[in-house]
Amino acid sequence: MHTVQLKPGREKSALHRHPWLFSGGIAQVDGEPEAGATVRVVAHDGRFLGWAAYSPASQIRIRFWGFDEGEAIDRAFFRRRLQRALASRSQLALAGNAARIVHAESDGLPGLVVDRYGDVVVAQFLSAGPEAWREVIVDELMDLTGAAAVFERSDADVRELEGLAPRAGLIAGKLPEEVDIEEYGIRYRVDIEAGQKTGFYLDQRANRRRIGELATGADVLNCFCYTGGFSLAALRGGARSVVSVDSSAEALAAARVNAALNEVDGERAEWVEADVFQYLRKLRDMGRQFDLIVLDPPKFAPTAQHVERAARAYKDINLWALRLLKPGGLLATFTCSGGMSADLFQKILAGSAWDAHAEAQIVERFSADVDHPVSLNFPEGDYLKGLLLRKVA
Ligand code: SAH
Repeated sequence: MHTVQLKPGREKSALHRHPWLFSGGIAQVDGEPEAGATVRVVAHDGRFLGWAAYSPASQIRIRFWGFDEGEAIDRAFFRRRLQRALASRSQLALAGNAARIVHAESDGLPGLVVDRYGDVVVAQFLSAGPEAWREVIVDELMDLTGAAAVFERSDADVRELEGLAPRAGLIAGKLPEEVDIEEYGIRYRVDIEAGQKTGFYLDQRANRRRIGELATGADVLNCFCYTGGFSLAALRGGARSVVSVDSSAEALAAARVNAALNEVDGERAEWVEADVFQYLRKLRDMGRQFDLIVLDPPKFAPTAQHVERAARAYKDINLWALRLLKPGGLLATFTCSGGMSADLFQKILAGSAWDAHAEAQIVERFSADVDHPVSLNFPEGDYLKGLLLRKVA
């Protein structure tokens, strides 16, 4: 067992049970622990702080598994953590048959994301710790969930920062022909092999439902529509028309399949393959106006360093959306950038409204759904922020 000793005064975040320590806080490491090895982390004075996964290639050198000296990091530990995460999902009375069942740091399992789609479990091993425990985790997931298969989607960019190569494929069990899920009465086909992330954006589940409620009789514009989540919710909710825009042809093809699965009226739905930044301007040139607009862009600011460029992008799309909104119309606007605080996002929107010569008010706030908990010790986990703005007539 290797020991990692921190520099004087650098133990504070660990004492508050924050799960990360950066390389700059480390005074010395005895020996050369392998990637993902469990290390004993101590303060400069030798006081025990916690057990952690060591990640030699990453700036985030340490990710804590636990802070209890008496708790061994072994198979039983992972089983308990997975059981704890599953128990919290059963308690939450989630709609449908798909959920995030492990939300990484916030579920006490840094670097591990697991989404369940019906009988299939999709896992992402995003850092050296879970990578080292991959087989144990997969075994326990199969056992505890009773899933038919565990599929891996460790092909996210963040693995690079850990010195890990991307990897994807079936790890255990057998895949069904199609992976179909149900969410508030709407069916979605999930492409777990080639879809984005693990195949679907479960974090927006409750917000999609809310948009469905607000869409009755509305002309709706859904930007960054992916496989049609908000669009189908709006169509099902009785929208008069829904224009959906995404730059991915694959996503739009999947969206059309989803529309067909739900037999929502094809005449009301228009699917557009385009860059949203350009298409918003085009809609303006065409003189189009909408009652309800959804902006759910990808992460423009993955980390704090990208915030300035991201701010310009958020400002731009929201400015154009506000211009396209009828007086009294609603704009549901999101940021899933960890580097973008709720406060800054709101300020950017104020700038958009100013430049659009629009007066707008916040009528509702959105976050990720309840199966994406945020540990109080890990505020970075609060990544999805949204506002419902009303353009004052
Ligand atoms: N709202 C969706 C998830 C959106 S994910 C849901 O509920 O499922 C973000 C989407 O933005 C992706 O589908 C991606 O293909 C698309 N995208 C990224 N950059 C884009 C751009 N510049 N123009 C249009 N679409 C873009």
